[in-house]
Amino acid sequence: MAIQYLEGADFSGKKVIARFDFNVPLDKNDKSKITDTSRIDLALPTIKKILEAGATKLILMSHLGRPKGKKNPDFSLEPVANYLADQLSDDVILTDSAINCGVKELLNLKETKIVLLENLRFHPEEENNDEGFAKKLADYGDVYVNDAFGAAHRKHASTYEINKFFARNAYAGLLMQNEIENLNKITQSPKKPFVAIVGGAKVSDKIKTLEKLIVTVDKLIIGGAMAYPFLKARGHEVGQSLCSDEDVKLAQSILKADKGGKVHLPVDHIVSEKFGGNPQGCSEINIPSDRMALDIGPKTIEKYRELLKDAQTVLWNGPMGAFELNDYNKGTFAICEAVAQLDAFTLVGGGDSVSAVNQSGYAEKFSHVSTGGGASLEYIEKGELPGVQALKFGVS
Ligand code: AMP
Repeated sequence: MAIQYLEGADFSGKKVIARFDFNVPLDKNDKSKITDTSRIDLALPTIKKILEAGATKLILMSHLGRPKGKKNPDFSLEPVANYLADQLSDDVILTDSAINCGVKELLNLKETKIVLLENLRFHPEEENNDEGFAKKLADYGDVYVNDAFGAAHRKHASTYEINKFFARNAYAGLLMQNEIENLNKITQSPKKPFVAIVGGAKVSDKIKTLEKLIVTVDKLIIGGAMAYPFLKARGHEVGQSLCSDEDVKLAQSILKADKGGKVHLPVDHIVSEKFGGNPQGCSEINIPSDRMALDIGPKTIEKYRELLKDAQTVLWNGPMGAFELNDYNKGTFAICEAVAQLDAFTLVGGGDSVSAVNQSGYAEKFSHVSTGGGASLEYIEKGELPGVQALKFGVS
């Protein structure tokens, strides 16, 4: 069955229960302050669309942080309710708990329109994908909408099991639709040449994605700390750079699977005697024994620019160096610029690379900036996610 989207949906007279990813960062010293509202802002078009489609009640649900199955005021969705009320210029009633009899009574009141259920993860049943818990949530609505792309790789009660109770009445929200359509351009016959740039901290974090990409891409460009296990696996010296034995083994397995010479590694580096120390150029592949590499060097930037030139599809995940430090952000920003200038489908995913692209000022030039870090990597790896699959086929 194909996924149902919101376009043309008629929710007149219906109670709609919708799952969002309102897992926003809160100020450490003042938990009532949201430090980055992007995730809520991205949900607003779907909320407005549901209301325009005629819904009489809109029940919003989300998780926030990791309260580990217990009620904890530090993880309350209250700041989210306040922000939503401001943005929608309407009342948003926050419930005391996601499941108590008061919620149904509240929904029976004529004047109630928008309700936000308190943090789903205050209940261990949410992460346990508990059927009874999913049924209680499902009982609030006639129609289910899932717009929580960032949580779609989780098989949780509100993202997965709940679909069991909404056969033919489950919809993907606008954000979810946008993510699926764009990621499909990477997973389903990408235009060639298809070039992936993978960076970041560890090979082990992205090994499954690398195993998939080494088959589907034409070129696999490696940067960041992830490059050193690959260099070591090829017999080079990596000095004090981040490089675990486990990662070297994993890099060896990728290099073994690389039948077409697709893997490309740095040829020079920016190094230092310690993390965050003074930057020095290292124009050789081999890194001196008392130095750690923290960014790719100018020859590598040029090499990668050349490799990207003819790309028709580009996937980027993970920075090229310790880009949070001013001395080591040049490689990452240069690659941002190179990708942004291409006449190709360009997709960036993963928390750190997205923030690098935003900082670089080139975000607008990318075809798609994916909002879900873990979810986008898993979708690329498997071409599917539990939360998306459940929307298609339901859960039996
Ligand atoms: P990831 O979340 O796997 O994409 O990793 C991103 C993190 O890797 C960022 O915090 C970077 O600072 C870090 N990183 C990238 N390159 C290096 C490097 N050469 N040395 C140390 N950390 C790095």
